[in-house]
Amino acid sequence: MNTKIVATLGPASDGPDIIGGLMEAGVDVFRLNAAHGSPEDHRLRIQRVRELSPDPEVRPAILVDLQGPKIRLGVFESGSATLATGSDFVITTEPVLGTAQRASTNYPGFARDVRPGDHVLLADGSVELRVLETDGVAVRCRVVSGGPVWDRKGINVPGVRLAVGSLTDKDLKDLQLAVSAGVDLVGLSFVRTAEDVRALRRRMEALGARRPIVAKIEKPEAWQNLDAILEEADGLMVARGDLGVELALEKVPFVQKAVIQRARRLGRFVITATQMLESMVQNPFPTRAEVSDVANAIYDGSDAVMLSAETSVGHYPLEAARMMARIIAETESTLGNWEPPGSAPAPVSDAPILADAAIRVARCSSAAAVAVFTVSGATARLVAAHRPRVPIYAFTPQAAVARQLTPVYGVEPILTPPMTSTDQMVAYLDRALLERGASAGARVVFVAGQPLGRPGITNLLKLHVIGS
Ligand code: PGA
Ligand code: MN
Repeated sequence: MNTKIVATLGPASDGPDIIGGLMEAGVDVFRLNAAHGSPEDHRLRIQRVRELSPDPEVRPAILVDLQGPKIRLGVFESGSATLATGSDFVITTEPVLGTAQRASTNYPGFARDVRPGDHVLLADGSVELRVLETDGVAVRCRVVSGGPVWDRKGINVPGVRLAVGSLTDKDLKDLQLAVSAGVDLVGLSFVRTAEDVRALRRRMEALGARRPIVAKIEKPEAWQNLDAILEEADGLMVARGDLGVELALEKVPFVQKAVIQRARRLGRFVITATQMLESMVQNPFPTRAEVSDVANAIYDGSDAVMLSAETSVGHYPLEAARMMARIIAETESTLGNWEPPGSAPAPVSDAPILADAAIRVARCSSAAAVAVFTVSGATARLVAAHRPRVPIYAFTPQAAVARQLTPVYGVEPILTPPMTSTDQMVAYLDRALLERGASAGARVVFVAGQPLGRPGITNLLKLHVIGS
């Protein structure tokens, strides 16, 4: 399978048999959602994943997803409350226990940022309020469309520019823990500008860490600033959950297609996320529409598809992952010479020129694979952006780079000892591919850079016959 699977861990998947089963089902990346669960929960999950993996240096990868400036309600007197349509509801920055008439929020600037007339959405948009007045501390709202809300449910204020920073104190703490626990990729929620991504990178550098950043596209500002964000981020997530609330549900399909195309054109990886098999939270089988959604995300050109509640809190985590794998296998078998809409990175400098050439050579020669020797992983990502049908073996001496490549379409990382000559690379490649079932005499396109081991150099292409 070329399309990757990201699965979110949570209480439903903490058992070693479930984590092991998810790996067997084909999960490539485990996501830890810092918005839920304690640091201790996440530490145990990381440990368990590493222990249960047959090849922990290379796979799976672990992605920690930082909550970012998510605004939430506080807690309620009895855990929840039902807001009546037409009544008043006060959201205050003072710490109060919530009732059907009022509740607190975790964002101290809330009452300064909103204006009368603004729409406030609670619990993924299921409850709608309109602001009547604000005194800088408490915001009085009219309940336009009522319903139940619970402790710490999300608050969205579409179209309102919030004065909140991109990284909260909690994010900084979570980041530090995640980096020291050895996570491979870092996701950032509610990205608005490229500067948000840079701020996270600076924070990581201050911790002495470099990890690929996945910018979650879930705010209208992120959609507006997409090109600049793409320049900064290593990967994107089409975070359809919050996107559907912040933008509008009916705008999500187009934004998904456009984000995937633009990410691919720049050689960034892109994960399509949220509610892909949502009904499997409760049922052992998905709906036809959900199956189509996963398939269509592949036809759109996603690198990876993601499971959230299905594996973190659902009743059928293993069934959901296996179903995902079945849909991917079947969909990929129909692709033939089909190419996703949009284009791969333009061949304007050495690495994209070589990636482009490698794909052409592979196609014309019916090569069985593309083999990339890569120091930083960049060349493997550029090859992947062409979405070849054949596997892309990414040979790298660094385990961290191997794991960082795990979410990328079609890439199978292989850890190598440091190489001193291209002859040595070719010999290593022969052995590794024969071990993986390639036949002697098959062709493979080999891409590397000379001098060896230096990042940023890609200048070598060979049409190699395995075993010759
Ligand atoms: P979340 O992000 O699950 O962290 O909210 C994904 C989304 O909003 O779709
Ligand atoms: Mn979200």
